[in-house]
Amino acid sequence: MRKYLATIIINAVVVLSLMSIAVGSDVLPNRGLYEVSHERVKLRGGFWGQRLKIHHETTIGHALDCLERNGHITNFDKASGVFDGPLRGHHAFDSDLHKAMEGAMYCLQYRDDPKLRLRVEGILDRILAAQQEDGFLISYFIVNGLDKKWDDLRLEHQMYNAGHFFEMAVEHHRLSGEKKAIDAAKRFADHIDSIFGPGKRYDVGGHEEIELALIKLYRATGERQYLELSRFLLDERGHLHGTERRPFESGPLVVPERVKGQTDAEYRRAKWHASLRWRNGRMQDHKPLVEQIEAVGHAVRAGYIYSAMADIARFMDAPEYERAVDNLWQDVIRSKMYVNGSIGTAQYGDEGFGDPYLLPNRTYCESCASIAHVLWQHRMNLLKGHAKYADVMELALYNGVLSGISLSGDGFFYQNPLESKGSNRSSWIGLACCPTNLTRIIPQVGGLAYAQGKNRLYVNLFASGDALVKMDDGVKVKLAQKTNYPWDGYVQLTVTLQQPSEFELCLRIPGWVLGRPVPSDLYRFADSKVVAVGLKVNGQTIKAAPQEDGYVHLKRMWKATDVVELDMPIPIRRVYAHEKVLADQGKVALMRGPIIYCFEEVDNPNVNVPSIALPREAEFRAEHRDQLLGGVTVLQGKGLDDRQRPVTLTAVPYYSWANREKGAMTVWINEAPVASAALPATSSPNPAQRADQSTSLKQAGKSPVSLTVAPHDLEGIFPFLQPNSPSNCLEITP
Ligand SMILES: [Zn+2]
Repeated sequence: MRKYLATIIINAVVVLSLMSIAVGSDVLPNRGLYEVSHERVKLRGGFWGQRLKIHHETTIGHALDCLERNGHITNFDKASGVFDGPLRGHHAFDSDLHKAMEGAMYCLQYRDDPKLRLRVEGILDRILAAQQEDGFLISYFIVNGLDKKWDDLRLEHQMYNAGHFFEMAVEHHRLSGEKKAIDAAKRFADHIDSIFGPGKRYDVGGHEEIELALIKLYRATGERQYLELSRFLLDERGHLHGTERRPFESGPLVVPERVKGQTDAEYRRAKWHASLRWRNGRMQDHKPLVEQIEAVGHAVRAGYIYSAMADIARFMDAPEYERAVDNLWQDVIRSKMYVNGSIGTAQYGDEGFGDPYLLPNRTYCESCASIAHVLWQHRMNLLKGHAKYADVMELALYNGVLSGISLSGDGFFYQNPLESKGSNRSSWIGLACCPTNLTRIIPQVGGLAYAQGKNRLYVNLFASGDALVKMDDGVKVKLAQKTNYPWDGYVQLTVTLQQPSEFELCLRIPGWVLGRPVPSDLYRFADSKVVAVGLKVNGQTIKAAPQEDGYVHLKRMWKATDVVELDMPIPIRRVYAHEKVLADQGKVALMRGPIIYCFEEVDNPNVNVPSIALPREAEFRAEHRDQLLGGVTVLQGKGLDDRQRPVTLTAVPYYSWANREKGAMTVWINEAPVASAALPATSSPNPAQRADQSTSLKQAGKSPVSLTVAPHDLEGIFPFLQPNSPSNCLEITP
């Protein structure tokens, strides 16, 4: 009886707390699924709970400190006239601050922190104080001359800055309910709307981002002109407004000779302009978006504009955008994505996509590109309602994104190669796009975990915590998830609701369970065995067969407190690349669940890591080590060194590399031993990388190209780019 009473009391408390749930007020799409936003998902404990704690306690403060020291905040003081002085940094500096602020606001929605809250509000007030009468708000132009504020949209990131400001302002409104930031965002968006649009100026920005941000602003305010403006900017891309017609060109980028008497700044500028032969393709502006079938150009920009295309298809019933973004998705997933979900080889010196299947392992793979990729795949999942997009999102998130930030939360990578002679993380990077993008993506993960459709609740990510949602019949539901994923595939979901409600709970059955690492033939497992999945509802076994959309649909009258158990055994899988990916031929990678593994010198100290071999018959076992790298499952097995002697090899998750002493690392290892003498002798990555790409180009049937510029030379091309340089809050000058 006492137990019965206790159950009644617990249920009454849960029902009362459900009644007080505020369920988000965003405008919903015309079709497809819609988000369960991060404010309704609290990740606690487990893998992501631990990351969020470090993020809140270290990353946010560290990022704001570095931005403060580098002048990002005082630039706004100069713009608002608090004091005089030259602007520091370059035209995209504001965006970095907006991104870090956005990250702080996500964190504050998870956990209140009066000190951080005060700091964030103080910085926000300094930003807003600089807003001009007409709504314009970019410190670079306010300080350096407003007469040129909309001159060069291709190079000066005006719209990119604005987009990040809008996203930050929406989160401030969500966090505080206050309107000062979102009203400022509306004034700025109205100003842009007054200049650009049908019958006004036809032009588009060089670095996309504003397009998806305007859709967010529309959803938060309900004001449709922002959606229309986003559509305009999409429709006008590829018509070469305001630019000389220069379609995307492949081939080597020729760096100009230095002219006698040229200053460093002049020479950097000359090199920058040399790279402009790709400029239309670089910014996906070489042909109308709806006609594009090939992913080209800067991978970060591509990820953002493809995200906006998916959103426009969802919010404006635009089948032409859905078709185009589908084609682009196929192109990336079939031939331009790394095994860890990263994108962007920078083959053409443009931080962008290379040729199909040309995926060298000493590569670029900017952290921001993986972040944009995650955002795009999330929107594809919402548009199409298929689990395969969430598979890629998960792959890029656990591997491509997380590799960009140290386990301590204050070390960063700009580029993320799959093979390295060793690299140190930077405590900050002068061109802070990656550190600040990482600052904002990690606390967004809760918002990627679930989705809703008509009378359906989708589980896309397995992560401990609670989600609070309102179903179509108005019943509020709390879904509590407990799991030790990604190390263990057991997931327990407890459904709590006010009153019985009939809906479908849709559980994603990951591609790796179904025998495929990615939803294409770009990578495959050595065997295509489907893992036997266990599924129970209230202890009763149910057949766990996913439908065509990749989800198991559990349709029933749910009542408090139903318990669903999903049990996915996680085998270690050998992964092979498509035969056209020449860089990976004869090689194998290891994957366990969604985690891609790598071999680091520190775990394999007496062997030459690039030359180790893992014969086909070699078996590996998994062992979880709580004390290693924040708690990881390592893989161990017998391989061969370069003299074909048996050695014990240890692999750790790729995302955790470069968190101990510097040393060699590789994701792909040989299946047959390779003699040391056959390996490149130099420790410089450039010649090897050039050879790698050049060989691949030859074998891919292209004319042999010796690249004039390798990604590691990019800092010479992009004046502010200093990838992965060890630095501590770098001083940079444009
Ligand atoms: Zn970046």
